Amino acid sequence: MRLSRYFLPVLKETPAEAQIVSHRLMLRAGMIRQASAGIYSWLPLGYRVLRNIERIVHEEQARAGHIPVLMPTLQSADLWRQSGRYDAYGPEMLRIRDRHDRDMLYGPTNEEMITEIVAAYVNSYRSLPLTLYHIQWKFRDEMRPRFGVMRGREFLMKDGYNFDLSKEAALHAYNRHLVSYLRTYERMGLQAIPMRADSGPIGGDYTHEFLVLAETGESEVFYDSEVTDLTFGDRDIDYDDWDQCQGVLEEFTSRYARTDETHDEAVFDKVPEARRRSARGIEVGQIFYFGTAYSESLGAFVQNEAGERVPLHMGSHGIGVSRLAGAIIEASHDDRGIIWPEAVTPFQVGLVNLRQGDSATDAACHGIELALEKRGLSVLYDDREERAGAKFATMDLIGLPWRITVGPRGLEKNVVELTSRRTGESEEMSAEAAIDRVAGIYGLAP
Ligand code: ATP
Ligand code: MG
Repeated sequence: MRLSRYFLPVLKETPAEAQIVSHRLMLRAGMIRQASAGIYSWLPLGYRVLRNIERIVHEEQARAGHIPVLMPTLQSADLWRQSGRYDAYGPEMLRIRDRHDRDMLYGPTNEEMITEIVAAYVNSYRSLPLTLYHIQWKFRDEMRPRFGVMRGREFLMKDGYNFDLSKEAALHAYNRHLVSYLRTYERMGLQAIPMRADSGPIGGDYTHEFLVLAETGESEVFYDSEVTDLTFGDRDIDYDDWDQCQGVLEEFTSRYARTDETHDEAVFDKVPEARRRSARGIEVGQIFYFGTAYSESLGAFVQNEAGERVPLHMGSHGIGVSRLAGAIIEASHDDRGIIWPEAVTPFQVGLVNLRQGDSATDAACHGIELALEKRGLSVLYDDREERAGAKFATMDLIGLPWRITVGPRGLEKNVVELTSRRTGESEEMSAEAAIDRVAGIYGLAP
């Protein structure tokens, strides 16, 4: 993509309304534009990041055996009356009336709708286990929308729902989600720590929130510093294997790590003092086992092996897809701008022409652009007639992890410059070597 033909409305000024760095940088880098309070348009650069986050979520859900669907944003109030949540939900729910005076709502979550679907089609234990999920916009009329996409009113969520015959089977689904979420966040370059959370009105002990530590996080958290040493890495987990998934759960949740809602000073005091931490965190996901409450109220029953009619055991599991764009920036930026992890970067490599209009330099850049694209890399080529300083500032702001810089002086020596956004280190090499290096970083064949 050529920058001269792209739509990248970067801002020079720091927007006054943005209180935290990710919000400021998303506005300055032309990623989002506010439509109204807590509601945003995703501009081209932001949209590419959002799509990359979604892709990783889909890939990891597929790996865990979960099945994608797509449910609507608008729901009928009747379903929610059946579960008893229509009145309980309160003013966060956006209620709408259609032309026939039917009560509708913009879904804040989808337990009712997915349970109705499963109730309509699933009758036998033979159809289980079953986990369905979607990535869809939600609306919650938050009292204080703020921090850009981090606490929006309209936001994109992955929400998944497991249906199982027994509590034991549903807890396996819970563990499987925990494992798949660990992988998902790590692939995005994030450390998200599972913490014991509050299960709210439905009750039960089985819920964990995943938190990214950040000073700007809205949640107060308490943990044993050993939890920050854990990494999931490139483990080969069999998601059908109870023991393997349970083993990962124990490894990642046996140490103290709780949100303020479940924090217990007496228990925390047993952690050696040098390892006790209190900090702030961004909630990027939550997993939940809640039993048979929805299946009973919405009629999701199956015949078990003994021929008895039993309610399904359910859990729900959410990832804040749009919030993650902000969370990744909170975790990865410097004074000059965003530093994208390779997995979610909007373009894999930036190309800077230092002498736009010089025919030899233009030709060299065009050749490199084509060669990169041929290798399957996404490239943003700054072909504007701008000073080098302005081009570097834009590249640093939008945070592409790798930059190839091409100028007449280098070309005389047959070299270009390859620069890492993260370290700032530059290396001179031939254009071919730079292309190979970048392709290698992204795991593409030579
Ligand atoms: P919070 O406590 O932050 O209000 P929640 O616990 O109500 O969130 P869940 O119902 O668990 O949210 O939703 C799953 C995920 O969706 C959350 O972990 C979070 O990452 C994301 N999310 C929730 N509310 C918002 C919001 N207003 N804006 C952006 N993302 C959100
Ligand atoms: Mg939550």
